[in-house]
Amino acid sequence: MELIFADAPGRPHFTEYFSNAIGEEVLPLTVTYNEVIAGSRDAGPCTIQIKLSWQDVAMNKAVSFEPGDQLGILPQNGDDMVLKLIQRLDPVPSLEQTYRLMTPNEISTIAGPNKEFVRYLPPATVFDWFKKFLDITTPPTMMLLSELATYATNQTEKERLNRLSEDPGKYLHWRRSRWPTILSLLEEFSSLSIPAVVLIYKLPLMQPCFYSISSCLLSSPTCVDLTVGVVNITDDGSSPVIFPDGSSRSGLCSMYLNQATIGATVNAFFREKPQFHLPEDPTVPIIMVGQDIGIAPFRSFWMHRAELMRGGQHLGTAIFYGGYRTQEMNLYREEKLQYQNIGAIELPTTYCREAVQGCAPDRVLVNYPTNEVVFCYDQGLVQMVISDNAFRMYESLYLQNGHIYICGDFHLVRYVRRILRLIFEEYGNLNEYEVKLALQDLEDSGRFHDRCRFHHHDDDPCLVDDIFGRIVGS
Ligand SMILES: Cc1cc2nc3c(=O)[nH]c(=O)nc-3n(C[C@H](O)[C@H](O)[C@H](O)COP(=O)(O)OP(=O)(O)OC[C@H]3O[C@@H](n4cnc5c(N)ncnc54)[C@H](O)[C@@H]3O)c2cc1C
Repeated sequence: MELIFADAPGRPHFTEYFSNAIGEEVLPLTVTYNEVIAGSRDAGPCTIQIKLSWQDVAMNKAVSFEPGDQLGILPQNGDDMVLKLIQRLDPVPSLEQTYRLMTPNEISTIAGPNKEFVRYLPPATVFDWFKKFLDITTPPTMMLLSELATYATNQTEKERLNRLSEDPGKYLHWRRSRWPTILSLLEEFSSLSIPAVVLIYKLPLMQPCFYSISSCLLSSPTCVDLTVGVVNITDDGSSPVIFPDGSSRSGLCSMYLNQATIGATVNAFFREKPQFHLPEDPTVPIIMVGQDIGIAPFRSFWMHRAELMRGGQHLGTAIFYGGYRTQEMNLYREEKLQYQNIGAIELPTTYCREAVQGCAPDRVLVNYPTNEVVFCYDQGLVQMVISDNAFRMYESLYLQNGHIYICGDFHLVRYVRRILRLIFEEYGNLNEYEVKLALQDLEDSGRFHDRCRFHHHDDDPCLVDDIFGRIVGS
């Protein structure tokens, strides 16, 4: 479809637009705290704790959420990248003028024939469209390359773009070795002469990104904490990969939050996740298994439990099995110990993948003065750690109808399922069929809660597993 710009009067209200588009109330939250809790902001991957407050939101809405819920963040592209991209368009569009998107001829819409193209973008400046609405960092798809090839004025570049758009092998190689953004594509294919309106129409929209809420309303009634692993594309998990154009790449939303300064506004919305809520009866035991950044939702659990305890509520046990890649990733370590001291959680064992000198690959390493026991990580470690507490697991989940919550990568759920099978077999003296029924009951009665995910969410069908082990995120 052909589109053209038309002048639009006034300044549009994006928050309202986002709320309508997403179907959730989007709030302009204010950053009140943003600190690194593991790693370093400037080198390689790091983890941050960020607080977003609704105290300044004039309407001071009655925000409500429960431990286990999520916050959807609407990320924005960096000014620098957007400005460079706009300078590369042909002709360079105005930065100040607010436009609407129109079709040259009337098209039929539900509301009758219309020339205004309102499908997804509200009136805005070209700068705002690229900054707040369009995905300019995900590598261009094969289909987009084929469409953009028509705008190459140099025949060799046109042919190369066409080859990339037709040959999945060549495309994947190019994509993996360059991790291209729209800007780097325009730099690599310098003869591309693309009008702004074409990119605005063809580029995918930016999607909201979800984060587990890492605090609870009872202890923080005007702000929400997130624990965010900042995604960097690294070679071995530590040094950023430098691409042929001299640049490095990072995750859009996690880097957006990483760079958000105190006082900045972040558009966000709350999403209820009843599947990951605490049991209604707080005396029911719970078990939490979290790996690396998977600790994020559990912090809201124990904060909430501590508040209930302060209110005189009697609580069931809550055991947290935490695992982490490096000692540094033992996030909120001091805080966890404080919550353990007041009885809001138990921390029987933690495990750590980091090789510690002189340690056998599969056994206890260190006894901290705090009584923490650190294990070396290997494939079966989660099972081993849990099996050291096997009876407690059996007691909580089978005898006392407790709930189990798992958060980490998708391997973790597999491990936990496997170990539960063994535990039920051993301590419940159950046969294979009975174990199956017991596990089925755990799931059917809504006591098995898992928030585990694959590490990448590319929707390009060519790219089922394109990470090459090179990206190490949170
Ligand atoms: C229900 C839910 C809850 C979540 N809670 C949290 C949370 O509490 N804390 C948190 O930090 N994240 C959480 N995430 C992940 C978060 O939503 C983002 O996916 C993550 O921050 C990366 O987004 P990004 O925009 O920075 O990276 P993108 O721009 O989306 O990614 C850039 C590239 O890196 C790859 N990539 C993305 N993440 C990883 C990764 N972890 N490892 C390796 N490669 C990766 C992508 O496939 C992509 O190719 C949660 C996700 C879901 C679905």
